[in-house]
Amino acid sequence: MDDGAGAIRRDFPFPEAGDHHMREWPLVWHPARGHFERTCPHGVGHPDPDDVLYLQSVGGVSGAHPCDGCCIAPLRD
Ligand SMILES: [Zn+2]
Repeated sequence: MDDGAGAIRRDFPFPEAGDHHMREWPLVWHPARGHFERTCPHGVGHPDPDDVLYLQSVGGVSGAHPCDGCCIAPLRD
């Protein structure tokens, strides 16, 4: 990990977004954290749930991010 240069943008690991509540939010690459984020309606970036699954599979995940709570899935009934 090179904190100075940032991570090179890679392709999104899946052909399309999964069925999660953030899928309609803009997808952005975050070079400093090396993952994809979704920007919530308040302008806060949250780790993309699909990208987190990918990162868990390769052992490189960090869920740390400034959060306003929007990445917590709403309850479904
Ligand atoms: Zn928010």
